[in-house]
Amino acid sequence: MKSKHFKDKELRCPCCKVNKVNLQSLKKLEKAREIYGKPIYITSAYRCPKHNKKVGGHPKSSHLKGRAFDISHYNTLLLLALSTKSTSKQRFKYLEQVVLQSRGYKLIKALYQAGFRRFGIGTTFIHIDDDPEKPKEVCWIYGNKKR
Ligand SMILES: [Zn+2]
Repeated sequence: MKSKHFKDKELRCPCCKVNKVNLQSLKKLEKAREIYGKPIYITSAYRCPKHNKKVGGHPKSSHLKGRAFDISHYNTLLLLALSTKSTSKQRFKYLEQVVLQSRGYKLIKALYQAGFRRFGIGTTFIHIDDDPEKPKEVCWIYGNKKR
């Protein structure tokens, strides 16, 4: 599968090298990349069942369908402020992150404009997918889980 901006290495399963990324999802990601205008680094796209299990993915993960992407990102921290578990000090830290760099908003805006309506926010990555079998307009938080 050819992609203008994304390497096969980023899209395929790291264990078996199989690339079953959904073309429609990839087109959306390409669109987001065009809007964003800067590189988007994918840390996880297609996963075979074995690899998904290994990385602790959900048994019905959209990564298994090739419809999900994890994007390396460190500036989504403000969104974690939405978590009621955050302390005032933590929230202020998130706020400072936004002051220092608005990159996170621009990336989320680009992903939204490209049509993604399912967002999972981690401390170091953003999960997006366009799984037609799952509810739209949802946003969840991964806590301190690293990917
Ligand atoms: Zn695999």
